[in-house]
Amino acid sequence: MRRRPSPARPADASRTMMLLIEGLVVLATVLVMEGVAYAVHRWVMHGPLGWGWHRSHHEEREGVFERNDLYAVVFSILAGALIAFGMAGVWPLRQVGVGLMVYGVLYFVVHDGLVHQRWPFRLMPRGGYVKRLVQAHKMHHAVDGRDGCVSFGFLYAPPVRLLKARLQANASARKPRGPDGSFRAVDGRPAERAVGPPPGN
Ligand SMILES: [Zn+2]
Ligand SMILES: [Zn+2]
Repeated sequence: MRRRPSPARPADASRTMMLLIEGLVVLATVLVMEGVAYAVHRWVMHGPLGWGWHRSHHEEREGVFERNDLYAVVFSILAGALIAFGMAGVWPLRQVGVGLMVYGVLYFVVHDGLVHQRWPFRLMPRGGYVKRLVQAHKMHHAVDGRDGCVSFGFLYAPPVRLLKARLQANASARKPRGPDGSFRAVDGRPAERAVGPPPGN
């Protein structure tokens, strides 16, 4: 006769429960971090405050590092501090710190590895969601400079056709200006003056 597995003792059960909760905190942190990274990328790094460091990532890199890598340093210090506070007894900061580290590793693999190929081997996703992630971030780099960019997330990517449509909408929203500050019409018709009185007045 097969022996039925003995039910877990209460102490074991609560340990298992604790591990499960800790795992969930780590997972939740990774998910929340995608939102935080999106917001920081869109409104801080592409804003007046953070562009100073981030600009280097939108320009040709000279050497191995770029000033933008300082953001990774800041987040690593933050993760380390959270883990240290957690080890000192502040629950659940250790798990939050570990979640931040896990996010950092995933970010590095997708962003620095798969998209920008900053590792010594060549690895290209052939299809599926990972390919879409790579395409989405390449579209982030499709615009020169700070404004009009799309796709600010790193682990979640909207469908590529949506991003294409958004890129086109952004491009037509900021028609290139002529040297006199006038807006140049897209179809080549005479430019409309943006500043100054209309001609003839
Ligand atoms: Zn950017
Ligand atoms: Zn990038």
